[in-house]
Amino acid sequence: QLKFASSLSRLGTESAFMVLARAQKLAAQGKDIINLGIGQPDFQTPEHIVEAGIKALRDGHHGYTPANGLPALREAVAADLHRRHKVEVNPDNVVVVPGGKPTMFFAVMMFGEPGAEIMYPNPGFPIYESVIRYSGATPVPIALEEKNGFAFSAEDLLSKITPNTSLIIINSPANPTGGVTPRSEIDKLVKGLEAHPHVALMSDEIYSNMLYDGREHVSLLQYPEIRDRLIMLDGWSKTYAMTGWRLGYAVWPDACVDHVTRLCINDHSCVNAATQFAGIAALNGPQTAVDEMLVQFDKRRKIIVNGLNALPGVRCADAAGAFYAFPNIEGTGLTAMQAQDKFLDEAGVATVAGTSFGAWGEGYLRFSYANSAENITEALSRISKLL
Ligand code: PLP
Repeated sequence: QLKFASSLSRLGTESAFMVLARAQKLAAQGKDIINLGIGQPDFQTPEHIVEAGIKALRDGHHGYTPANGLPALREAVAADLHRRHKVEVNPDNVVVVPGGKPTMFFAVMMFGEPGAEIMYPNPGFPIYESVIRYSGATPVPIALEEKNGFAFSAEDLLSKITPNTSLIIINSPANPTGGVTPRSEIDKLVKGLEAHPHVALMSDEIYSNMLYDGREHVSLLQYPEIRDRLIMLDGWSKTYAMTGWRLGYAVWPDACVDHVTRLCINDHSCVNAATQFAGIAALNGPQTAVDEMLVQFDKRRKIIVNGLNALPGVRCADAAGAFYAFPNIEGTGLTAMQAQDKFLDEAGVATVAGTSFGAWGEGYLRFSYANSAENITEALSRISKLL
């Protein structure tokens, strides 16, 4: 009998990966599966980025890099943040890690322990709640409601702060809802946090590049008054279709930089060098491929939102950002899990039950529209026949 640590029983998972595995198994059995389950762009990484990664390997970049990332990459991040969000960031505050996830893990390890309370969006990215529980801290869900466009209410959030609150996690544009939090709520949150100087804030802005209908991303970096306790997470996975490369970063406050660097040294030493060179090419090179991907996502978004609203018993709110639609399916008489299973088994369409993103997701289903317009149209037609 192996003596596993009891903390393991508190570690959750990301169900989208399980749905992906099931969908792949069905496909291997010869079933025609359309995957609207997994949250990754269906595009290839733009060619000039791939070439930069290959060139780095050929040029002999085979060793360790500084644990916090190559200086040229951290400078490119700072320049990119200035270009996109009009903010000044010191490259010394940028810490490069293998993807978006390590930043959330390290932030929660830094602020989570038994007795601490950490707030997180629900429905929200499932890894937040998983790692909060793993750290021993108490997870405090912030309910996101359809009637508010799945944005948090600053008043509600502020009312839940206690002397034990150590960290608040927010995410806009959001997974799984596609919701975008308006500037007015963020203004109120930042103002309200003045009364709670002991609380750190992690803003997950991994979808900062994906907003539609002329909306502009509001980065928490634009609020100098909370820079001394803000962790702003972003990365390359979604924007540059680089999920498999494993590259992300966060801007950390001065007080956290040494701690997070130590966590990196203990965990992974550094991100592999060639990937970092590819990341530099992504930020410093032409952004035309990114713009083209966004045009495609916007087209598909319209198809899926309109198509879902035309289904009996289904109501889909405007999907303002990211590449997800999060329709309410209560009118079909199916629970979220029943709908997920039925659509996959009987229509060959992979989606993810809203409950995979927290209890508040009951009655909802997440559709990722990172798939071709033809496949999305076909998936909608199959579900329509089924319903
Ligand atoms: N944050 C959110 C909200 C996400 O949806 C994801 C991926 O789905 C991540 C972070 C993690 O991204 P990465 O694949 O770069 O670790």
